[in-house]
Amino acid sequence: MKPIVTLVGRPNVGKSTLFNRITRSRNALVDNFPGVTRDRIYGQAVWNGVEFTLVDTGGFAEDDQDFFAGPIRAQIRQAVQDADVVILIMDGKGGVSPFDRDLMTVLRSSEKPVLYAVNKIDGEEQEERLYEFYSLGIDVPFPISAEHGYGVSDLLDELVSVIPPSRPEPAEEMIKIAVVGRPNAGKSSLINRMLGEERLVVSELPGTTRDAVDSIFKVNDKSYCLIDTAGIRRKGKVTRKLEKFSIIKSLRSLDRCDIALIVIDAADGITDQDVSIAGYAHERGCGCILLLNKWDLVEKDKHTAKAYYDRLRLAAKFLSFAPAMTISALTGQRVSRIFSRVDAVYAQYTTRITTGQLNKVLGEALIRNEPPLHQGKRLKFYYAAQVSTRPPTFVCFVNYPDAVHFSYERYLINQIREGTGLTQTPIRLLLRQRT
Ligand code: GDP
Ligand code: GDP
Repeated sequence: MKPIVTLVGRPNVGKSTLFNRITRSRNALVDNFPGVTRDRIYGQAVWNGVEFTLVDTGGFAEDDQDFFAGPIRAQIRQAVQDADVVILIMDGKGGVSPFDRDLMTVLRSSEKPVLYAVNKIDGEEQEERLYEFYSLGIDVPFPISAEHGYGVSDLLDELVSVIPPSRPEPAEEMIKIAVVGRPNAGKSSLINRMLGEERLVVSELPGTTRDAVDSIFKVNDKSYCLIDTAGIRRKGKVTRKLEKFSIIKSLRSLDRCDIALIVIDAADGITDQDVSIAGYAHERGCGCILLLNKWDLVEKDKHTAKAYYDRLRLAAKFLSFAPAMTISALTGQRVSRIFSRVDAVYAQYTTRITTGQLNKVLGEALIRNEPPLHQGKRLKFYYAAQVSTRPPTFVCFVNYPDAVHFSYERYLINQIREGTGLTQTPIRLLLRQRT
Protein backbone atom coordinates (compact mmCIF):
# COMPACT_ATOMS: atom_id res chain seq x y z
CA MET A 1 0.00 0.00 0.00
CA LYS A 2 1.42 3.36 -0.99
CA PRO A 3 1.78 6.18 1.52
CA ILE A 4 -0.88 8.87 1.36
CA VAL A 5 0.00 12.52 1.02
CA THR A 6 -2.89 14.91 1.46
CA LEU A 7 -3.19 18.51 0.28
CA VAL A 8 -5.22 20.80 2.50
CA GLY A 9 -5.87 24.53 2.31
CA ARG A 10 -8.73 26.90 1.89
CA PRO A 11 -10.35 27.35 -1.52
CA ASN A 12 -8.36 28.99 -4.32
CA VAL A 13 -4.93 28.67 -2.83
CA GLY A 14 -3.90 26.39 -5.70
CA LYS A 15 -4.41 22.86 -4.38
CA SER A 16 -5.73 21.41 -7.58
CA THR A 17 -3.09 23.21 -9.63
CA LEU A 18 -0.42 21.62 -7.46
CA PHE A 19 -2.19 18.27 -7.54
CA ASN A 20 -2.16 18.31 -11.33
CA ARG A 21 1.46 19.33 -11.45
CA ILE A 22 2.56 16.55 -9.13
CA THR A 23 0.42 13.77 -10.55
CA ARG A 24 0.57 15.05 -14.13
CA SER A 25 -2.92 13.82 -14.44
CA ARG A 26 -6.21 15.48 -14.76
CA ASN A 27 -9.16 13.86 -13.23
CA ALA A 28 -11.52 13.60 -16.15
CA LEU A 29 -14.60 13.24 -14.04
CA VAL A 30 -13.97 16.50 -12.32
CA ASP A 31 -12.52 18.57 -15.08
CA ASN A 32 -14.97 17.72 -17.80
CA PHE A 33 -18.07 18.08 -15.75
CA PRO A 34 -18.07 21.30 -13.81
CA GLY A 35 -20.56 21.39 -10.99
CA VAL A 36 -20.02 17.80 -10.06
CA THR A 37 -19.38 17.80 -6.37
CA ARG A 38 -16.43 15.84 -5.23
CA ASP A 39 -14.92 15.08 -1.93
CA ARG A 40 -11.42 13.81 -2.29
CA ILE A 41 -9.52 13.33 -5.51
CA TYR A 42 -6.77 10.72 -5.64
CA GLY A 43 -3.78 10.58 -7.94
CA GLN A 44 -0.66 8.48 -8.16
CA ALA A 45 2.70 10.18 -8.03
CA VAL A 46 6.36 9.33 -7.85
CA TRP A 47 9.36 11.48 -6.92
CA ASN A 48 12.95 10.24 -6.84
CA GLY A 49 11.67 6.71 -7.00
CA VAL A 50 9.32 7.11 -4.04
CA GLU A 51 5.74 6.33 -4.95
CA PHE A 52 2.83 7.87 -3.12
CA THR A 53 -0.85 8.59 -3.47
CA LEU A 54 -1.71 12.26 -3.57
CA VAL A 55 -5.07 13.38 -2.23
CA ASP A 56 -6.69 16.72 -2.99
CA THR A 57 -9.30 17.66 -0.41
CA GLY A 58 -10.33 20.64 -2.51
CA GLY A 59 -13.85 19.53 -3.15
CA PHE A 60 -14.95 19.89 0.44
CA ALA A 61 -15.68 23.58 0.05
CA GLU A 62 -16.67 25.77 -2.84
CA ASP A 63 -15.73 29.03 -1.14
CA ASP A 64 -14.49 30.49 2.11
CA GLN A 65 -18.06 30.79 3.30
CA ASP A 66 -18.73 27.08 3.70
CA PHE A 67 -15.09 26.30 4.33
CA PHE A 68 -15.29 26.78 8.01
CA ALA A 69 -18.70 25.39 8.52
CA GLY A 70 -18.43 22.53 11.02
CA PRO A 71 -18.99 19.56 8.68
CA ILE A 72 -16.19 20.54 6.39
CA ARG A 73 -13.81 20.88 9.25
CA ALA A 74 -14.76 17.35 10.33
CA GLN A 75 -14.15 16.08 6.81
CA ILE A 76 -10.75 17.70 6.70
CA ARG A 77 -9.91 16.25 10.09
CA GLN A 78 -10.85 12.82 8.74
CA ALA A 79 -8.76 13.33 5.60
CA VAL A 80 -5.80 14.31 7.77
CA GLN A 81 -6.37 11.22 9.92
CA ASP A 82 -6.13 9.02 6.83
CA ALA A 83 -2.95 10.71 5.63
CA ASP A 84 0.66 9.79 6.22
CA VAL A 85 1.91 13.29 5.40
CA VAL A 86 -0.03 16.53 5.00
CA ILE A 87 0.87 19.53 2.89
CA LEU A 88 -0.82 22.75 3.97
CA ILE A 89 -1.03 25.15 1.08
CA MET A 90 -1.42 28.85 1.66
CA ASP A 91 -1.78 31.78 -0.69
CA GLY A 92 1.33 33.94 -0.98
CA LYS A 93 -0.51 36.46 -3.09
CA GLY A 94 -3.42 36.88 -0.71
CA GLY A 95 -1.29 36.69 2.43
CA VAL A 96 -2.02 35.00 5.74
CA SER A 97 -5.68 34.29 6.31
CA PRO A 98 -7.40 33.53 9.61
CA PHE A 99 -8.38 30.22 8.02
CA ASP A 100 -4.73 29.27 7.77
CA ARG A 101 -4.33 29.68 11.52
CA ASP A 102 -7.38 27.59 12.12
CA LEU A 103 -6.15 24.84 9.83
CA MET A 104 -2.81 24.83 11.56
CA THR A 105 -4.54 24.15 14.85
CA VAL A 106 -6.23 21.13 13.27
CA LEU A 107 -2.95 19.91 11.84
CA ARG A 108 -0.95 20.38 15.03
CA SER A 109 -3.40 18.28 16.97
CA SER A 110 -3.04 15.45 14.46
CA GLU A 111 0.65 14.65 15.08
CA LYS A 112 1.16 13.94 11.39
CA PRO A 113 4.20 15.28 9.58
CA VAL A 114 3.15 18.54 7.93
CA LEU A 115 4.87 20.56 5.23
CA TYR A 116 3.90 24.18 4.76
CA ALA A 117 3.81 25.52 1.22
CA VAL A 118 3.21 29.15 0.32
CA ASN A 119 1.92 29.16 -3.22
CA LYS A 120 1.72 31.78 -5.96
CA ILE A 121 5.29 32.79 -5.44
CA ASP A 122 6.04 32.80 -9.12
CA GLY A 123 9.79 33.45 -8.91
CA GLU A 124 12.62 34.35 -6.58
CA GLU A 125 11.79 38.05 -6.81
CA GLN A 126 8.46 37.33 -5.07
CA GLU A 127 9.95 35.50 -2.13
CA GLU A 128 9.40 38.41 0.21
CA ARG A 129 5.76 37.37 0.20
CA LEU A 130 6.92 34.52 2.35
CA TYR A 131 7.93 36.57 5.34
CA GLU A 132 4.56 37.20 6.89
CA PHE A 133 3.99 33.44 7.02
CA TYR A 134 6.72 33.10 9.60
CA SER A 135 4.26 34.80 11.93
CA LEU A 136 2.33 31.53 11.99
CA GLY A 137 5.26 29.93 13.75
CA ILE A 138 6.34 27.84 10.79
CA ASP A 139 10.00 26.90 10.76
CA VAL A 140 10.41 26.15 7.10
CA PRO A 141 7.76 27.45 4.74
CA PHE A 142 8.30 26.36 1.16
CA PRO A 143 7.81 29.08 -1.44
CA ILE A 144 6.29 27.50 -4.53
CA SER A 145 4.49 28.28 -7.74
CA ALA A 146 2.09 25.47 -8.47
CA GLU A 147 1.35 27.08 -11.78
CA HIS A 148 4.91 27.60 -13.00
CA GLY A 149 6.76 24.97 -11.04
CA TYR A 150 9.02 27.26 -9.07
CA GLY A 151 10.15 25.64 -5.80
CA VAL A 152 8.07 22.51 -6.29
CA SER A 153 11.05 20.18 -6.58
CA ASP A 154 12.44 21.40 -3.23
CA LEU A 155 9.07 20.73 -1.66
CA LEU A 156 8.97 17.22 -3.13
CA ASP A 157 12.53 16.47 -2.01
CA GLU A 158 11.53 17.31 1.52
CA LEU A 159 8.28 15.38 1.15
CA VAL A 160 9.89 12.08 0.15
CA SER A 161 12.35 12.41 3.02
CA VAL A 162 9.54 12.57 5.58
CA ILE A 163 7.27 9.93 4.04
CA PRO A 164 7.21 6.94 6.38
CA PRO A 165 8.16 3.56 4.90
CA SER A 166 5.34 1.69 3.15
CA ARG A 167 2.58 0.36 5.30
CA PRO A 168 2.25 -3.39 5.25
CA GLU A 169 -0.72 -4.91 3.44
CA PRO A 170 -3.48 -5.86 5.81
CA ALA A 171 -3.16 -9.60 6.29
CA GLU A 172 -6.68 -10.20 7.44
CA GLU A 173 -9.22 -11.58 5.04
CA MET A 174 -11.75 -9.04 3.94
CA ILE A 175 -14.96 -9.56 2.07
CA LYS A 176 -14.92 -7.27 -0.94
CA ILE A 177 -18.28 -5.78 -1.71
CA ALA A 178 -19.33 -3.81 -4.78
CA VAL A 179 -22.49 -1.73 -4.80
CA VAL A 180 -24.06 -1.45 -8.23
CA GLY A 181 -27.31 -0.20 -9.63
CA ARG A 182 -28.96 2.43 -11.75
CA PRO A 183 -28.33 6.09 -11.00
CA ASN A 184 -30.59 7.17 -8.13
CA ALA A 185 -31.28 3.63 -6.99
CA GLY A 186 -29.77 4.64 -3.66
CA LYS A 187 -26.21 3.32 -3.86
CA SER A 188 -24.50 6.17 -2.11
CA SER A 189 -27.24 6.42 0.51
CA LEU A 190 -26.72 2.73 1.18
CA ILE A 191 -22.97 3.06 1.39
CA ASN A 192 -23.30 5.90 3.85
CA ARG A 193 -25.62 3.76 5.91
CA MET A 194 -23.29 0.80 5.82
CA LEU A 195 -20.29 2.84 6.78
CA GLY A 196 -22.31 4.29 9.63
CA GLU A 197 -22.54 7.78 10.93
CA GLU A 198 -19.98 7.19 13.60
CA ARG A 199 -17.42 6.39 10.92
CA LEU A 200 -16.47 2.79 11.38
CA VAL A 201 -14.14 3.29 8.46
CA VAL A 202 -10.74 1.97 9.31
CA SER A 203 -9.07 3.40 6.26
CA GLU A 204 -9.66 4.27 2.68
CA LEU A 205 -7.42 2.54 0.24
CA PRO A 206 -6.73 3.77 -3.24
CA GLY A 207 -7.88 1.04 -5.59
CA THR A 208 -6.35 -0.09 -8.81
CA THR A 209 -7.61 2.74 -10.94
CA ARG A 210 -6.55 6.26 -10.27
CA ASP A 211 -9.69 7.55 -8.76
CA ALA A 212 -11.11 4.40 -7.26
CA VAL A 213 -11.10 4.37 -3.50
CA ASP A 214 -12.09 1.51 -1.30
CA SER A 215 -13.42 1.82 2.23
CA ILE A 216 -12.42 -0.76 4.77
CA PHE A 217 -14.54 -1.06 7.86
CA LYS A 218 -15.46 -3.49 10.58
CA VAL A 219 -18.77 -4.86 11.71
CA ASN A 220 -18.73 -7.18 14.71
CA ASP A 221 -14.97 -7.52 14.39
CA LYS A 222 -15.14 -8.70 10.79
CA SER A 223 -13.55 -6.67 8.04
CA TYR A 224 -15.32 -5.63 4.89
CA CYS A 225 -14.11 -3.62 1.97
CA LEU A 226 -16.50 -1.51 -0.05
CA ILE A 227 -15.04 -1.10 -3.50
CA ASP A 228 -14.77 2.30 -5.13
CA THR A 229 -16.85 4.17 -2.62
CA ALA A 230 -15.43 7.48 -3.76
CA GLY A 231 -16.56 6.83 -7.31
CA ILE A 232 -20.10 6.30 -6.16
CA ARG A 233 -20.25 9.05 -3.59
CA ARG A 234 -18.50 11.67 -5.61
CA LYS A 235 -21.22 12.27 -8.10
CA GLY A 236 -23.44 15.00 -6.75
CA LYS A 237 -25.83 16.22 -9.36
CA VAL A 238 -25.73 13.62 -12.04
CA THR A 239 -26.11 14.93 -15.55
CA ARG A 240 -27.41 12.80 -18.38
CA LYS A 241 -23.97 12.50 -19.88
CA LEU A 242 -22.46 11.44 -16.64
CA GLU A 243 -25.06 8.80 -16.00
CA LYS A 244 -23.80 6.38 -18.57
CA PHE A 245 -20.26 6.99 -17.51
CA SER A 246 -21.01 6.35 -13.89
CA ILE A 247 -22.78 3.09 -14.69
CA ILE A 248 -19.74 1.84 -16.58
CA LYS A 249 -17.52 2.97 -13.77
CA SER A 250 -19.56 1.23 -11.15
CA LEU A 251 -19.66 -1.95 -13.19
CA ARG A 252 -15.89 -1.94 -13.17
CA SER A 253 -16.00 -2.47 -9.44
CA LEU A 254 -17.53 -5.88 -10.15
CA ASP A 255 -14.18 -7.08 -11.40
CA ARG A 256 -12.68 -6.73 -7.96
CA CYS A 257 -15.49 -7.84 -5.72
CA ASP A 258 -16.57 -11.06 -4.03
CA ILE A 259 -20.13 -9.98 -3.44
CA ALA A 260 -22.20 -7.55 -5.50
CA LEU A 261 -25.04 -5.70 -3.85
CA ILE A 262 -27.46 -4.95 -6.65
CA VAL A 263 -29.51 -1.97 -5.60
CA ILE A 264 -32.91 -1.61 -7.21
CA ASP A 265 -35.31 1.28 -6.75
CA ALA A 266 -38.38 -0.67 -5.74
CA ALA A 267 -40.55 2.43 -5.83
CA ASP A 268 -39.75 2.62 -9.52
CA GLY A 269 -40.36 -1.06 -10.20
CA ILE A 270 -37.89 -3.51 -11.67
CA THR A 271 -36.57 -2.18 -14.96
CA ASP A 272 -34.63 -3.67 -17.88
CA GLN A 273 -31.62 -1.71 -16.80
CA ASP A 274 -31.72 -3.34 -13.36
CA VAL A 275 -31.83 -6.73 -15.02
CA SER A 276 -28.92 -5.96 -17.30
CA ILE A 277 -26.84 -4.71 -14.37
CA ALA A 278 -27.67 -7.92 -12.52
CA GLY A 279 -26.62 -9.78 -15.67
CA TYR A 280 -23.22 -8.14 -15.60
CA ALA A 281 -22.74 -9.08 -11.98
CA HIS A 282 -23.70 -12.65 -12.75
CA GLU A 283 -21.40 -12.82 -15.77
CA ARG A 284 -18.47 -11.73 -13.63
CA GLY A 285 -19.19 -14.64 -11.32
CA CYS A 286 -19.77 -12.51 -8.23
CA GLY A 287 -21.93 -13.60 -5.37
CA CYS A 288 -25.04 -11.45 -5.69
CA ILE A 289 -27.58 -10.05 -3.30
CA LEU A 290 -30.59 -8.23 -4.70
CA LEU A 291 -31.71 -5.26 -2.66
CA LEU A 292 -35.14 -3.82 -3.25
CA ASN A 293 -34.47 -0.35 -1.91
CA LYS A 294 -36.80 2.53 -1.04
CA TRP A 295 -39.15 0.01 0.53
CA ASP A 296 -40.41 2.86 2.70
CA LEU A 297 -42.00 4.37 -0.39
CA VAL A 298 -43.77 1.24 -1.53
CA GLU A 299 -47.43 0.95 -0.66
CA LYS A 300 -47.76 -2.49 0.75
CA ASP A 301 -49.79 -5.18 2.36
CA LYS A 302 -48.60 -8.59 3.47
CA HIS A 303 -48.37 -9.94 -0.10
CA THR A 304 -46.36 -7.10 -1.58
CA ALA A 305 -42.89 -8.37 -0.76
CA LYS A 306 -43.62 -11.78 -2.23
CA ALA A 307 -45.03 -10.20 -5.37
CA TYR A 308 -41.84 -8.21 -5.79
CA TYR A 309 -39.65 -11.24 -5.22
CA ASP A 310 -41.64 -13.20 -7.78
CA ARG A 311 -41.31 -10.44 -10.32
CA LEU A 312 -37.61 -10.24 -9.65
CA ARG A 313 -37.16 -14.00 -10.04
CA LEU A 314 -39.03 -13.90 -13.30
CA ALA A 315 -37.08 -10.94 -14.72
CA ALA A 316 -33.69 -12.23 -13.58
CA LYS A 317 -34.03 -16.01 -13.74
CA PHE A 318 -30.29 -16.41 -13.99
CA LEU A 319 -30.04 -15.11 -10.42
CA SER A 320 -32.74 -17.27 -8.92
CA PHE A 321 -30.28 -18.50 -6.29
CA ALA A 322 -29.34 -15.00 -5.13
CA PRO A 323 -30.89 -13.82 -1.86
CA ALA A 324 -33.18 -10.84 -2.18
CA MET A 325 -34.31 -8.49 0.53
CA THR A 326 -36.32 -5.31 0.90
CA ILE A 327 -34.53 -2.40 2.54
CA SER A 328 -34.61 1.33 2.99
CA ALA A 329 -31.29 3.08 2.78
CA LEU A 330 -33.11 6.20 3.88
CA THR A 331 -34.58 4.90 7.15
CA GLY A 332 -31.96 2.22 7.63
CA GLN A 333 -34.58 -0.51 7.71
CA ARG A 334 -32.92 -3.95 7.49
CA VAL A 335 -29.62 -2.43 6.31
CA SER A 336 -27.70 -4.00 9.18
CA ARG A 337 -29.04 -7.41 8.18
CA ILE A 338 -27.26 -7.15 4.85
CA PHE A 339 -24.04 -8.14 6.55
CA SER A 340 -25.24 -11.54 7.70
CA ARG A 341 -26.49 -12.19 4.16
CA VAL A 342 -23.12 -11.15 2.78
CA ASP A 343 -21.38 -13.47 5.25
CA ALA A 344 -23.61 -16.38 4.28
CA VAL A 345 -23.15 -15.93 0.54
CA TYR A 346 -19.43 -15.40 0.98
CA ALA A 347 -19.08 -18.59 3.00
CA GLN A 348 -20.62 -20.53 0.12
CA TYR A 349 -18.73 -18.54 -2.47
CA THR A 350 -15.42 -19.64 -0.97
CA THR A 351 -16.41 -23.20 -0.06
CA ARG A 352 -14.46 -26.26 -1.09
CA ILE A 353 -16.37 -29.47 -1.59
CA THR A 354 -14.37 -32.65 -1.29
CA THR A 355 -14.03 -34.81 -4.37
CA GLY A 356 -15.64 -37.66 -2.47
CA GLN A 357 -18.75 -35.71 -1.57
CA LEU A 358 -19.01 -34.21 -5.04
CA ASN A 359 -18.85 -37.56 -6.81
CA LYS A 360 -21.36 -39.06 -4.44
CA VAL A 361 -23.81 -36.25 -5.22
CA LEU A 362 -23.13 -36.53 -8.94
CA GLY A 363 -23.41 -40.31 -8.95
CA GLU A 364 -26.81 -40.17 -7.29
CA ALA A 365 -27.98 -37.50 -9.69
CA LEU A 366 -26.94 -39.62 -12.67
CA ILE A 367 -28.84 -42.62 -11.32
CA ARG A 368 -31.96 -40.62 -10.52
CA ASN A 369 -32.13 -39.13 -13.95
CA GLU A 370 -30.05 -40.90 -16.57
CA PRO A 371 -28.43 -38.79 -19.26
CA PRO A 372 -30.16 -39.20 -22.63
CA LEU A 373 -28.45 -41.20 -25.35
CA HIS A 374 -26.27 -39.33 -27.79
CA GLN A 375 -26.53 -40.60 -31.39
CA GLY A 376 -27.38 -43.97 -30.01
CA LYS A 377 -24.40 -43.94 -27.68
CA ARG A 378 -24.46 -43.71 -23.94
CA LEU A 379 -23.14 -40.48 -22.40
CA LYS A 380 -20.66 -41.38 -19.70
CA PHE A 381 -19.82 -39.10 -16.81
CA TYR A 382 -16.59 -40.24 -15.22
CA TYR A 383 -15.78 -38.12 -12.23
CA ALA A 384 -15.78 -34.52 -11.09
CA ALA A 385 -13.59 -32.30 -8.95
CA GLN A 386 -13.73 -28.76 -7.67
CA VAL A 387 -10.96 -26.80 -9.37
CA SER A 388 -11.45 -23.40 -7.78
CA THR A 389 -13.51 -21.20 -5.47
CA ARG A 390 -14.87 -17.66 -5.91
CA PRO A 391 -17.19 -18.93 -7.31
CA PRO A 392 -17.00 -22.69 -6.72
CA THR A 393 -16.06 -24.20 -10.06
CA PHE A 394 -16.33 -27.87 -10.87
CA VAL A 395 -14.88 -29.83 -13.72
CA CYS A 396 -16.63 -32.97 -14.81
CA PHE A 397 -15.15 -35.46 -17.26
CA VAL A 398 -17.49 -36.81 -19.89
CA ASN A 399 -17.00 -38.84 -23.05
CA TYR A 400 -18.92 -36.38 -25.28
CA PRO A 401 -19.06 -32.99 -23.55
CA ASP A 402 -20.67 -31.25 -26.54
CA ALA A 403 -23.49 -33.72 -26.54
CA VAL A 404 -24.66 -32.88 -23.04
CA HIS A 405 -27.87 -30.97 -23.45
CA PHE A 406 -28.10 -27.63 -21.76
CA SER A 407 -31.13 -28.71 -19.77
CA TYR A 408 -29.29 -31.77 -18.48
CA GLU A 409 -26.35 -29.56 -17.50
CA ARG A 410 -28.77 -27.35 -15.59
CA TYR A 411 -30.17 -30.41 -13.88
CA LEU A 412 -26.68 -31.42 -12.77
CA ILE A 413 -25.92 -27.93 -11.50
CA ASN A 414 -29.11 -27.93 -9.45
CA GLN A 415 -28.29 -31.35 -8.08
CA ILE A 416 -24.84 -30.17 -7.06
CA ARG A 417 -26.42 -27.14 -5.38
CA GLU A 418 -28.85 -29.24 -3.43
CA GLY A 419 -26.41 -31.97 -2.56
CA THR A 420 -23.65 -29.66 -1.34
CA GLY A 421 -25.68 -26.85 0.17
CA LEU A 422 -24.33 -24.28 -2.26
CA THR A 423 -27.75 -22.74 -2.67
CA GLN A 424 -26.94 -19.03 -2.66
CA THR A 425 -23.73 -18.70 -4.62
CA PRO A 426 -23.13 -18.91 -8.35
CA ILE A 427 -21.39 -22.14 -9.26
CA ARG A 428 -19.79 -23.23 -12.49
CA LEU A 429 -19.74 -26.61 -14.09
CA LEU A 430 -17.22 -27.23 -16.83
CA LEU A 431 -17.52 -30.34 -18.95
CA ARG A 432 -14.26 -31.77 -20.23
CA GLN A 433 -13.68 -34.59 -22.65
CA ARG A 434 -12.36 -37.92 -21.53
CA THR A 435 -12.77 -41.01 -23.59
P1 GDP B 1 -7.84 25.23 -5.15
O1 GDP B 1 -9.22 25.75 -4.94
O2 GDP B 1 -7.02 25.36 -3.89
O3 GDP B 1 -7.78 23.86 -5.73
O4 GDP B 1 -7.12 26.25 -6.16
P2 GDP B 1 -6.84 26.13 -7.74
O5 GDP B 1 -5.75 25.18 -8.01
O6 GDP B 1 -8.13 25.92 -8.44
O7 GDP B 1 -6.27 27.58 -8.04
C1 GDP B 1 -7.00 28.76 -7.76
C2 GDP B 1 -6.51 29.89 -8.64
O8 GDP B 1 -5.17 30.22 -8.31
C3 GDP B 1 -6.52 29.54 -10.11
O9 GDP B 1 -6.99 30.67 -10.83
C4 GDP B 1 -5.08 29.26 -10.43
O10 GDP B 1 -4.77 29.57 -11.77
C5 GDP B 1 -4.34 30.20 -9.48
N1 GDP B 1 -3.02 29.67 -9.14
C6 GDP B 1 -2.75 28.42 -8.72
N2 GDP B 1 -1.42 28.28 -8.51
C7 GDP B 1 -0.85 29.46 -8.83
C8 GDP B 1 0.52 29.96 -8.84
O11 GDP B 1 1.46 29.23 -8.54
N3 GDP B 1 0.70 31.24 -9.19
C9 GDP B 1 -0.32 32.06 -9.55
N4 GDP B 1 -0.03 33.30 -9.89
N5 GDP B 1 -1.60 31.64 -9.58
C10 GDP B 1 -1.87 30.37 -9.22
P1 GDP C 1 -27.31 6.61 -6.29
O1 GDP C 1 -27.34 7.47 -7.50
O2 GDP C 1 -27.65 5.20 -6.63
O3 GDP C 1 -26.06 6.73 -5.48
O4 GDP C 1 -28.55 7.11 -5.38
P2 GDP C 1 -28.57 8.07 -4.10
O5 GDP C 1 -28.08 7.36 -2.90
O6 GDP C 1 -27.91 9.37 -4.44
O7 GDP C 1 -30.13 8.25 -3.94
C1 GDP C 1 -30.93 8.88 -4.92
C2 GDP C 1 -32.11 9.53 -4.24
O8 GDP C 1 -32.95 8.54 -3.66
C3 GDP C 1 -31.74 10.47 -3.13
O9 GDP C 1 -32.61 11.56 -3.14
C4 GDP C 1 -31.94 9.64 -1.87
O10 GDP C 1 -32.24 10.41 -0.74
C5 GDP C 1 -33.11 8.78 -2.26
N1 GDP C 1 -33.13 7.49 -1.56
C6 GDP C 1 -32.13 6.59 -1.48
N2 GDP C 1 -32.51 5.51 -0.77
C7 GDP C 1 -33.78 5.75 -0.39
C8 GDP C 1 -34.73 5.01 0.37
O11 GDP C 1 -34.50 3.89 0.87
N3 GDP C 1 -35.97 5.57 0.53
C9 GDP C 1 -36.28 6.78 0.01
N4 GDP C 1 -37.50 7.25 0.24
N5 GDP C 1 -35.40 7.50 -0.69
C10 GDP C 1 -34.17 7.00 -0.90
